[in-house]
Amino acid sequence: MQSKFLDRNDIAPYLNEEQLEFREVVFRALEKQATPEYLRECDEHKAFPEKLIKFVADQGWFAVTLPEQYDGVGGYLEMVGMLEAMAYYSSALARYWNINVNMVGGAICSIGSLELREKLIPPLAAGKNFFAFALSENGSGSDAASLQTTGKVDGDDIVLNGTKMWITGANRANHILTACRTAKMENKQAGISLVLVPSDSNGLKINPIDMLGGHLIRTCEVVLDNVKVPTSMMVGDLHKGWMQLLSVLAKERIALGAICVGAMQAAFDLALGYTKERKQFGKSIASFQINSHKLADMQTSIDASRLLVYRGARLLADGIPCNIQSSQAKYFGADTYMKVATDALQLMGANGYSMEYAAQRHFREAKLFQIFGGTNEIQRNIVARDLISN
Ligand SMILES: Cc1cc2nc3c(=O)[nH]c(=O)nc-3n(C[C@H](O)[C@H](O)[C@H](O)COP(=O)(O)OP(=O)(O)OC[C@H]3O[C@@H](n4cnc5c(N)ncnc54)[C@H](O)[C@@H]3O)c2cc1C
Repeated sequence: MQSKFLDRNDIAPYLNEEQLEFREVVFRALEKQATPEYLRECDEHKAFPEKLIKFVADQGWFAVTLPEQYDGVGGYLEMVGMLEAMAYYSSALARYWNINVNMVGGAICSIGSLELREKLIPPLAAGKNFFAFALSENGSGSDAASLQTTGKVDGDDIVLNGTKMWITGANRANHILTACRTAKMENKQAGISLVLVPSDSNGLKINPIDMLGGHLIRTCEVVLDNVKVPTSMMVGDLHKGWMQLLSVLAKERIALGAICVGAMQAAFDLALGYTKERKQFGKSIASFQINSHKLADMQTSIDASRLLVYRGARLLADGIPCNIQSSQAKYFGADTYMKVATDALQLMGANGYSMEYAAQRHFREAKLFQIFGGTNEIQRNIVARDLISN
């Protein structure tokens, strides 16, 4: 396959030979496994891509970024290369990886007990234990710390009550990392704890919600009605979970930026191939200057998004704080994916709007990246606050 994805010069300043090789291995392996027909079938039937997840697990890719002592491999530069490659085929697959490994795996590794790490991280690395992360509620989205779900400590147990919304992959998870209020304190960020709720707990109900896109991995409502979990399933300290969790968010935003870059490159490649082939007025439509300039602008903005992602990943890999750079990579990537997906669909005319081609899927899926993982407005607030306060 011819794709700008494979142009090594673009990212050579950030990746060594092995990392470049790994990124390409993932890209080429998924070309065979994640065919447009298979992905379209799963999308249309809102079916979990069982076969694809098993393939990813068998390759050992769920282990990327996890600590070596728990069978993990590779770091953040391997992560962004891999996520870009996965998202080239399916952003839903890459998002699923991100929730499992970055969000929940990352939380367990950085603030979880030794017992939880030893029990849950090796099966995660092997792709045999899956997670979801339940923070949002109907009344608390961007203002996540105003959550109302309660967790009442009762001896050695904690009893949870409340309803979580928009939870990615909850219907396929073995455990749901659930944020709940364990104490009312003056500062709303304090008094929040994180509890790993086993999905077979009594009183737990999971209801998939119909969304605009990303159907391979369902987005769910999670209802907790007197769900009792041992306090040993708490990740982080009692009342301090929210504040401790903030450390994993930079990693997540860079991952989301990488997912947008891979997906937008695929949308672009589709449109480029189409416009070169499609003839109107006796010429290929790519030869009309308005279209060729659009294509040039699309690839240039994809390259710019990619550079923001690799800059962030390099900082993460070197242990340099990158809260601002990660927000920039996330919101620029999501806005650019939306623009590229819109332009790709327009360049393909009615075929772009038909279910036959993946342009419509990109158009639907790009939008979700501007909303989740902290909306783009919230990311801009983070960057602006830093600019103004310095
Ligand atoms: C497909 C999908 C998957 C998701 N997966 C998960 C998941 O796995 N786990 C989970 O916990 N959540 C998940 N979410 C929820 C997601 O995190 C929230 O949707 C997001 O945080 C925004 O919250 P909200 O939808 O309630 O919007 P609101 O917070 O109500 O915001 C509505 C609008 O107001 C803007 N706004 C709000 N506050 C400000 C402000 N201070 N300044 C400027 N603008 C502002 C927002 O940017 C947005 O445009 C998912 C969402 C989607 C769409």
